Amino acid sequence: VRTPLIAGNWKMNLDHLQAVAFVQKLHWTLKDAKHEDGSVEVAVFPPFTDLRSVQTLLDADKIAFALGAQDLSTKDAGAYTGEISGAFLAKLDARYVIIGHSERREYHNESDDVIAAKVQAALRHGLTPVICVGETAEDLEKFGASAVPVGQLEKALEGVPADTEIVVAYEPVWAIGSGQAATPEQAQDVCAKLRGVIGAAMGEDAAARTRVLYGGSVKAANIASFMREPDVDGALVGGASLVVDEFASIIRFQK
Ligand code: 13P
Repeated sequence: VRTPLIAGNWKMNLDHLQAVAFVQKLHWTLKDAKHEDGSVEVAVFPPFTDLRSVQTLLDADKIAFALGAQDLSTKDAGAYTGEISGAFLAKLDARYVIIGHSERREYHNESDDVIAAKVQAALRHGLTPVICVGETAEDLEKFGASAVPVGQLEKALEGVPADTEIVVAYEPVWAIGSGQAATPEQAQDVCAKLRGVIGAAMGEDAAARTRVLYGGSVKAANIASFMREPDVDGALVGGASLVVDEFASIIRFQK
């Protein structure tokens, strides 16, 4: 029912020229891979300054990757220096936007209120929010794995209508960029609880249809173990999404 989603969050890597070369290479490496028949969805999340070049390439070469941005403004237009409107992202055919990544929460002090406002901004412009939640190592020790991500998701989903398409990504902060991924059992446990939150906020249909991803040190060597879990519907990949062969192997995962 739920099409697996393999999403590459490039973070602040690859300028617009490198981005074009990378996407071309990835596309050629993946010739005849299963994203072509729609059994897996692939999405890339380049920096804002790359979006136009990547969009043009995807369009011109009919490359079946979805495009997403890494953030957006809570506002739609106006005197907000340095901000990017969801309207601009929609004009660039971005389908997705990452909201509430732990790096935004930590380095830009984004609160649950700001994140909820960004979710609403994405929905106003027809973008699908990829809502990121996850506990730090300290949270894990104090509250266990699920309390913090569950609370973060409850706040982000306030006022989101039942028929909305969203994606949720469980990214334990301690697993990001550390080489120490969660175990598949840990990921399954929290992803199942997050699906419960979606059910309570948006209803059971939404819970059944919404993709919940795992993120944090996902690689070609561990993707299958996550994908075998019933409540893990894909991966949000950082470092490994910047290496063509590695990301291609992740996309080609076999359960
Ligand atoms: P890594 O895959 O580099 O651990 O990053 C995960 C992440 O933060 C994706 O958003």
